[in-house]
Amino acid sequence: MRQHRWQDAAGLRHAISLQSYPLPPRPGEEIQTLCGEDLELTEQDFPQLPQYQRLKGTCFTCQAEWRARESLRPVP
Ligand SMILES: [Zn+2]
Repeated sequence: MRQHRWQDAAGLRHAISLQSYPLPPRPGEEIQTLCGEDLELTEQDFPQLPQYQRLKGTCFTCQAEWRARESLRPVP
């Protein structure tokens, strides 16, 4: 079962724990990402909103942490 989800925040695609965030976070909320940052979400972080900004990179620390937590093989 999936235990994490991606969430755009502060210009990158970070991962968050579904245990900590069973419901999708909303603009204005602060989230703690798998890479350990506390980030406030804005309307630019939600694809369903017109303010959404595309072309964000992936946070590789979050990606590595996700794979470690779910016992997936690391990305080579
Ligand atoms: Zn991250």
